[in-house]
Amino acid sequence: MLPGDGIGPEVTEAALKVLKAVQKAKKNLKFIFSFGEAGLNCIKKHGTNVPQRTLDMLRQTDACLKGPMTTPEEAGAPPSAAVTIRKAFNLYANVRPCKSLPGVPALKPNIDLIVLRENTEGLYSGQEFMVAPGKGVALRIVTEQASKRIAELAFEMAQKRKHHVTCVHKRNILRVTDGIFVDAVMKIAEKYSQVTLDEVHVDAMAMRLVKEPEKFDVIVTTNLFGDILSDEAAQLVGGLGLAAGANVGSSYGMFEPVHGSAPKYAGKNTVNPIATILAAKMMLDYLNESEAAGLVEKAVMEVLKEGKVRTYDLGGNSSTQEIADTIADKISFFAH
Ligand code: NAD
Repeated sequence: MLPGDGIGPEVTEAALKVLKAVQKAKKNLKFIFSFGEAGLNCIKKHGTNVPQRTLDMLRQTDACLKGPMTTPEEAGAPPSAAVTIRKAFNLYANVRPCKSLPGVPALKPNIDLIVLRENTEGLYSGQEFMVAPGKGVALRIVTEQASKRIAELAFEMAQKRKHHVTCVHKRNILRVTDGIFVDAVMKIAEKYSQVTLDEVHVDAMAMRLVKEPEKFDVIVTTNLFGDILSDEAAQLVGGLGLAAGANVGSSYGMFEPVHGSAPKYAGKNTVNPIATILAAKMMLDYLNESEAAGLVEKAVMEVLKEGKVRTYDLGGNSSTQEIADTIADKISFFAH
């Protein structure tokens, strides 16, 4: 557990309550929790936002639940903690599910899609240069190897879902980089005859997500496009307070809410912890604890459907910890 900055400690505390309730409900499940420091709060103390001690601790674990962290923006500051951890563990896929939830206003009632974002290259390669005063260049790195790897995951996921992959790109303009990406996706598609592949330009996709989001299943795309489209998709189904994401590689997973550290709400016990609780649910799925994950999902759905406790973003005035306690109680109730 990496509590992080701003609202991070309170939303991860909420998720911890839920995980402890799951552990109590399922006698054969035993978690060992370790807690590590990371985020802006570490910089003064350790000179970095991801201390070596934290990376060493993570290497002893199977997965981590990461609270949001404030990213320093001044020149020369360390990169975002999430980016450092993604690179250290080669977490090449960012998985962001978006689903209409009971009792939560959504653009359409039947949205169920996943934005799958390549997590290691593209415009997030961090290679930017000032080539002359007032003239900057950023490198958009796309490789066939990384594109095939993310495409493979997209088709594997679609095969277990609605058998539909949408490849999002801007090949008409970015002919070299998105040419490599689209060709790689098409090559992988040849192995998955039961999955339909279509392709959409990113600008058209931004529009179609609003017009007909229910028509999509797995949307696979490059790093920056995926970042933008997944925030848009989150808003279609209730906003950032409910959106969870996974960062997975071949041997490690990091799970986090999509939202940031929302500093102005820090310590107020008012923000929605469900995004982090759903990130914990994704972590249980990753750890092959699908029954435990199902229990968390069922409890969250029930609490949302009942609508008795809600945080401000969903029109209520319940506290962060009240939501966590109610979900934890539901887990105990369902387990007996
Ligand atoms: P933010 O997501 O922190 O907050 C934007 C707004 O969204 C908030 O003011 C609030 O109105 C709402 N919001 C966010 N989380 C909510 C929740 N759980 N419940 C209810 N409402 C919620 O975005 P920001 O203000 O642009 O960024 C703040 C800091 O977080 C920045 O330093 C940014 O770099 C960082 N950040 C970190 C991560 C991460 O750690 N993965 C992700 C995004 C942003």
